[in-house]
Formats: sequence, structure tokens, C-alpha cells
Amino acid sequence: ELEVAIKVVIVGNGAVGKSSMIQRYCKGTFTKDYKKTIGVDFLERQIELDGEEVRLMLWDTAGQEEFDAITKAYYRGAQACVLAFSTTDRDSFEAAHSWKMKVEDECGEIPTVLVQNKIDLLDQSVVDPEEADLLARALGCRLLRTSVKEDINVNAVFRHLAACCLAE
Ligand code: GDP
Ligand code: MG
Repeated sequence: ELEVAIKVVIVGNGAVGKSSMIQRYCKGTFTKDYKKTIGVDFLERQIELDGEEVRLMLWDTAGQEEFDAITKAYYRGAQACVLAFSTTDRDSFEAAHSWKMKVEDECGEIPTVLVQNKIDLLDQSVVDPEEADLLARALGCRLLRTSVKEDINVNAVFRHLAACCLAE
């Protein structure tokens, strides 16, 4: 049987919850201080979508995003993208546009979801809901609000991307 495999890159400023999201989705766990396992480039999870088996490979960085030092190898062959920012980090919201450009430079136009993570901290929000909606529209991608901590909407992010890829 044919199996579809999709490489997904997860970009955004440091500390927005990228590694935590990968860990949550692929292992079902959440910790306050997730440290990347050395030597592992990606974690994977297999799902069924419209009767098709889809293998999602979620590529993590080892913190290189903080130094703007993500290698070309990280982006190579990526078919989908999670563009993440944090509810409590204004800089991460303002950086989302340039992350989108970076991914486009390396991968061309690939299915992308704008993710506002840490919505469990909405009382400390530094991003207006309308601003986030406007940004999503400007970038031409769907906005999903997630809490990796509370496991809200994480599955929806990857199901949406898988569906976009299957439809192509
Ligand atoms: P990365 O640098 O983007 O990979 O971010 P990490 O996954 O290392 O997460 C940075 C910090 O944010 C860690 O302390 C996580 O536990 C925390 N974190 C991640 N997601 C959430 C969330 O949805 N809510 C809250 N409150 N904290 C989160
Ligand atoms: Mg990380």
C-alpha cells in the first residue's frame, strides 16, 4: 500500500513552543524544560486521513533559530510549515512575517499554518485577536490558536497541513 510521508518544518522565534509542540504531538508529553535529544532530527507520527495513511515527520531545530542559523538541510524537501508565535511574546509575533519569507525562499510556497501558541496565557496576551487575524490574511494562511500545555488544537494543526498536502 502506498504511504504518504510529509516533512513538516516548524519555525518561529525561540521559546514560542516549537519543540514542545513536536513532543506533544508525537509523544503525548509536555514538560516545562524540554531539551532536544541530540542526534534526532525529527519525530514522526502516523495518522489516517480520508482512508489514507499519512506519515508526518516533524523537524525540530536545536535552538539555531535564536542565532538565525538554521541550515539549508533543515528546510530541504519540506512540504508543509508551521509558523509559530507566542501569545505572550510580542517580538515573536512581529517576526512571523520574516519567518514566512525565509521559508518561501528555501521551499517556495508550501502549505503553512500560522499558530498562536500559549493561549492558556491569554490573560498575559500582548497580541490583539484582530491583529493575528489580519496577519494570517496578509500571509495567506490559516490561523490556529493552540495551547501545547493544555493540548488544545495541536492535532488540528497537523491534520490541516496533511489535508492541504493530500489535496495538492
Ligand atoms: P522553542 O524554543 O520554540 O522550541 O520552545 P520550547 O518548546 O522549548 O518552549 C519554551 C517554553 O515554553 C518551555 O518552558 C515550554 O514548557 C513552554 N511552553 C510551550 N508551549 C506552551 C503553552 O502552550 N503554554 C505555556 N504556558 N507554556 C508553553
Ligand atoms: Mg526548540
